[in-house]
Amino acid sequence: MKKKFFALTLVLFSPLAMAHPGEHHMGWLAGIAHLLSEPDHLAMLLLAVVVGAYGALALRRRARVNKRRQ
Ligand SMILES: [Zn+2]
Repeated sequence: MKKKFFALTLVLFSPLAMAHPGEHHMGWLAGIAHLLSEPDHLAMLLLAVVVGAYGALALRRRARVNKRRQ
């Protein structure tokens, strides 16, 4: 139930989230340059990398514990 509420909240309020005013409709190269040059996008990228690395470490730790139990 908690997960469904969280997912519904994300779906309902995600259109309200705006990194910054302005257009994002540009060519793919300019789009990548924009994503790598704006501090707000870089912060979200850094957050995704940190969360992904933490998740990978947690999975690796869990696999190591499961291997010891066998
Ligand atoms: Zn942007």
